[in-house]
Amino acid sequence: MTTLAPSLESPSRLPGADPALEPIARKVEQGQRLSIDDGRTLYHTPDIWRVLELADLVRRRMHGDVAYYNINRHLNYSNVCALSCKFCEFYRKAGQEGEYTRDLDYVKEEGRKAQSIGATELHIVGGLNPYLPFEYYTDMLRALREVAPDVHLKAFTAVELVHLARIAKVYKRNDPKSGVRWVLQQLKEAGLGSLPGGGAEVFDERVHKEAFKTKIGAHEWLDVHLVAHELGLNTNCTMLYGHVDQREERLRHMEILRRSQDQALDRLGYVGEDSAYIARDIPESQQITAPVITLNKDGATLPSPSMSDKGGYYQTITPLPFFPDGSALEHLPGPAGLENLRTIAVTRLMLDNFPHVKAFWIMQTLPMAQLMLEAGADDIDGTVVWYDITKVGGASTHQETTVTDLKNAIQEAGFTPVERDTVYRRVTRDGNTWRAES
Ligand code: SF4
Repeated sequence: MTTLAPSLESPSRLPGADPALEPIARKVEQGQRLSIDDGRTLYHTPDIWRVLELADLVRRRMHGDVAYYNINRHLNYSNVCALSCKFCEFYRKAGQEGEYTRDLDYVKEEGRKAQSIGATELHIVGGLNPYLPFEYYTDMLRALREVAPDVHLKAFTAVELVHLARIAKVYKRNDPKSGVRWVLQQLKEAGLGSLPGGGAEVFDERVHKEAFKTKIGAHEWLDVHLVAHELGLNTNCTMLYGHVDQREERLRHMEILRRSQDQALDRLGYVGEDSAYIARDIPESQQITAPVITLNKDGATLPSPSMSDKGGYYQTITPLPFFPDGSALEHLPGPAGLENLRTIAVTRLMLDNFPHVKAFWIMQTLPMAQLMLEAGADDIDGTVVWYDITKVGGASTHQETTVTDLKNAIQEAGFTPVERDTVYRRVTRDGNTWRAES
């Protein structure tokens, strides 16, 4: 695969080159934050190749030719859910065909398997099951800690955590953060290592009302991640796009996330540049006063686990394309290849303070994930066994690839594969025995 030249000295001369991109290129060159207007230009220009080229430049500044993968397993503990989000094909109602809830024996067996194959991570998520008590979740983590002591437990989206605060009866409408803090403290004590990024969808009231109105909105999602960061837990985030959302709404989603990351990096001691930055549509509850902090300059130090005594931060943004099959929005087409490629690139360029952008191969396909490594992504996720939530084309839930396939895919794309653990420490391994570099 040909490497896209990252040089800004010789801007694209191809027919169709868009001069509107050159002021944006200058900003990228200087590591400046791009505006929503810039994002709009990046999304609408016909010169998509220049957009990919700029994203590749930022990606190579941050990570050189390294592309990350991990060895992980997924555990979906229950698909019973009190909600019925329109884009979701995962949930079942109690008593409906195909519903399941895993007991502790099942959970332990999954933990043992993860430990024995040398997996570094268990990714644990499920529906909002109204019939499980709070203790089910702490018992699950403790049981996993016992049988899989080396495996990092990345568990529970913000949506699930608010649900847990409700079933534990600590949720207060006028002070949602305190209940979530209590829940996270209990879970951390039981073995929780970090939070996945699901449930964010697209932070926009119109989209929220139309596609997932009973699910928590932006302010609650952000509150959960804020509290997690304050407790020293790293988190991740997603953007499920290509359903009823518009590109403009995706850009605002990105802006809200990067301001939230400004806040996390400020807590870690990063020094920003512009405290007068006015961001649009930041939920009032966030009260973000942090300066703009970018990581896309040459030589910028990326946050690392060694800073975790000061707080957590967002590690990765994963844009997730919507798959209509089996959902209540089945009539919509869903996004196609070029839109997915462009969205990865725009995400890399707009989210200048996120260390990592993931091309999640399960939803993007491995060949597309290869292309995305040249369009801003630096991570393709892991070997992944049993991924129930969403999968390409409604295929079997047994989604798995081998380490060899992942490494080959990365090398074929012209990058150096590096195994990472959940918090992006490099992993050295001898078969199933592994160690993370500090
Ligand atoms: S997206 Fe999550 S909260 Fe919504 S219906 Fe599906 S499992 Fe339930």
